[in-house]
Amino acid sequence: MNAQTLQGNHWTAKRVEGAYIVSIEDRASILDALTGFITSQKIQAGQITGIGATNEATLRFFDPSSKKYVDKTFNEQMEISNLSGNISEAEGKLLLHLHITLGRKDYTALAGHLLDAKIRGAGEFFVYPINSKVFKVKNEDVGLYFYDFAHQ
Ligand code: FE
Repeated sequence: MNAQTLQGNHWTAKRVEGAYIVSIEDRASILDALTGFITSQKIQAGQITGIGATNEATLRFFDPSSKKYVDKTFNEQMEISNLSGNISEAEGKLLLHLHITLGRKDYTALAGHLLDAKIRGAGEFFVYPINSKVFKVKNEDVGLYFYDFAHQ
């Protein structure tokens, strides 16, 4: 491991131009590893993309009528055919908004809002930070966090 390699709990990363390439360890939680990486690099806002594989993923489906998420965990080997998300701040805390598309053994896809998943195989992510803060605030009528561009 050379001096340019960044390292944390279950992740390693390399800064390349304006982006970070992040590798998440086999069997690690994607949410824990990404949160640790983003916090360690003091990234306040930006975009995340990723691919890899998982054997345990909990997806959420938001029901606007109840304003609640319905969670479901899938325990099987799946390809992470895409993870995409964004980084912002809400109520003074880091907020990761992640969605995922998972490929099953029969080549069909599952998709949803990602609560968390465990890597089983590779976890290859790109994080693109932006040099500014982006805030979200909870919209109580809808039950979701929305961008608050007027926030000072
Ligand atoms: Fe979502």
